[in-house]
Amino acid sequence: MHQRRGKRKEPEDYGWVISFGCKTTGTLRRLKVDTDPSSDTSPIEVPCPCGETHRVTVSPYRRRRAADEPFDLEVKSLDELR
Ligand SMILES: [Zn+2]
Repeated sequence: MHQRRGKRKEPEDYGWVISFGCKTTGTLRRLKVDTDPSSDTSPIEVPCPCGETHRVTVSPYRRRRAADEPFDLEVKSLDELR
């Protein structure tokens, strides 16, 4: 999974951000998803940069991503993590 920085298809759409806590390192991580994740809010399995996979609940944490907001990992759709 590689990040594609600086590549924009639509100027006003920067995707969505789902924040999740990494219990292993005690940090807050950000997952970027290109498509609106609201259609399916079932839990996802996120391959965290710490090396472990975390089970993350989607609905309470999703929000629009700001243009210059950093993120730790990126997917096109949350279906990739289910
Ligand atoms: Zn982690």
